[in-house]
Amino acid sequence: MKTKYIFVTGGVLSSLGKGLASASLGALLQTRGLSVTIQKLDPYINVDPGTMNPFQHGEVFVTDDGAETDLDLGHYERYLNVPMSRKNNTTSGAIYNSVIAKERRGDYLGGTVQVIPHVTDEIKATVLSLAEGDNAPDVAIVEIGGTVGDIEGLPFLEAIRQLRSDLGRDNCLNIHLTLVPYLRSAGEHKTKPTQHSVKELLSIGIQPDIILCRCERSISEEMRRKIALFCNVDQDAVFADVDVENIYEVPLKFYEEGFDQKVAIMLRLPARNAHLEVWKKLARDCAEPAGRVSIAIVGKYVELKEAYKSLHEALNHAGVANSAGVDLVYVNSETVDDLSAPAALKGCGGILVPGGFGYRGVEGKIAAIRYAREKNVPFLGICLGMQCAVIEFARHVAGLDDANSEEFNSLCEHKVIYLMTEWYDFRTKNLEKRDLESDKGGSMRLGAYPCKILPDTKAFVAYKKTLVEERHRHRYEFNNAYKELLSEKGMIFSGVSPDDSLVEIMELPDHPWFVGCQFHPEFKSRPMEVHPLFRDFIRAAKNSPGDRTRGKPDGRRSETSS
Ligand code: GLN
Repeated sequence: MKTKYIFVTGGVLSSLGKGLASASLGALLQTRGLSVTIQKLDPYINVDPGTMNPFQHGEVFVTDDGAETDLDLGHYERYLNVPMSRKNNTTSGAIYNSVIAKERRGDYLGGTVQVIPHVTDEIKATVLSLAEGDNAPDVAIVEIGGTVGDIEGLPFLEAIRQLRSDLGRDNCLNIHLTLVPYLRSAGEHKTKPTQHSVKELLSIGIQPDIILCRCERSISEEMRRKIALFCNVDQDAVFADVDVENIYEVPLKFYEEGFDQKVAIMLRLPARNAHLEVWKKLARDCAEPAGRVSIAIVGKYVELKEAYKSLHEALNHAGVANSAGVDLVYVNSETVDDLSAPAALKGCGGILVPGGFGYRGVEGKIAAIRYAREKNVPFLGICLGMQCAVIEFARHVAGLDDANSEEFNSLCEHKVIYLMTEWYDFRTKNLEKRDLESDKGGSMRLGAYPCKILPDTKAFVAYKKTLVEERHRHRYEFNNAYKELLSEKGMIFSGVSPDDSLVEIMELPDHPWFVGCQFHPEFKSRPMEVHPLFRDFIRAAKNSPGDRTRGKPDGRRSETSS
């Protein structure tokens, strides 16, 4: 079967959950026996989100092949349970980059290079690349970032308009996700923003086939009829995308609406009956945890939960695996020091220090880690979190008072974390170290790398394997010159690269659970396949005597991201 395309656009305003809606539709089509992939087209000019501030863009999701991508790709992987690659995300910046490179090379043979056809052709080629190769999916969902009406999104919309005739009407479907607000004072839903948004789409030549209405509460038949009438769609092609408590309920809600069935009919997909057992079980497990556990996340971006999207999801998956709702307590690392740590972290079953860049807040993270180590509170350090755990141990256990990372103090005597020149020589051939430091866009160790796991360690107990693969996104590494000294003082290097040159996991044996990893395990956690390190961290935290929720019957729901 030829790959069928579903284009998802958004109207009225951003943050309506296009990514989740696309991922949920994809998951439903999968349960009907179809193979699915999803691609995100981002209209901004950055070549990728790698250099963007998490405050502006949220998490940067890293794929196995080392692409720094939009956080929606994390949703796609978690819902579809298939790895995404750099093919699955592009931006205006990347498209223009490629067009300009071709122009410089003379590929356009002296022609005037224009948005139509050159930029739109480049976009179409990227979209069509999803259907190439022996494993072309049955369905490719393409989500266009931003909101209809944005100037920068126009070339993408023009490209999908053209693709409809290129691919044939039966092979494409346009879904428009819009907001249908409920006006309390009037006691009714309002359809006018949707009408305007569809008008805007029509003005650029796109007629939506399906309208998906994001709403606080379900919309009546009467409202659906009205939307259908004004937007030229079938009445049974207007669906509600109702707010849910837990994001993993969305596929079930869509199924109840008959959304995926309508998609299958309209695209003439050879779809079987949907098999929703695993999704139903997941929704039940999320809604009814037997207990709770409280986890402190000590980081810099605590005000912005989008910055730690995959982390939250991984913790929720681990909660489900341990029959516990996870209560997240955000602790701003800039406000923590050795004196305030006990009060700030009291009552937490576990402490997690996530990844990050730059010195701001680092001393607070180190103080929180010291508290976790000395008070036997289960600890998970991710990337920068592991690096801070090494610094803390070097300073307070090994007596290297000025131990630090080269990232924060290049003049200190004991750079226990450093920029590993050999590694960068190997990776980037002839680039000078200073070029690497200034080239923020391309100097990181990115993507999946193998890691050997030492037997008789907490890492081995978790993974139950001697070789794993995990995803990285960092510049600095553990400095092997300190391996011997820190080992003597009791640190165990339980995960290393196959050639022993890079430390990937460290842990402390005389502690209930203290593990740091140089990679980002959160990128590989799935709701149906929890990551072993998160699972064991939450298990340890649940059993931690200091956890304030211990012994309490389940009352509140977990703070799930939505
Ligand atoms: N800033 C650290 C480095 O570049 C850690 C990065 C991270 O936590 N992702 O190595």
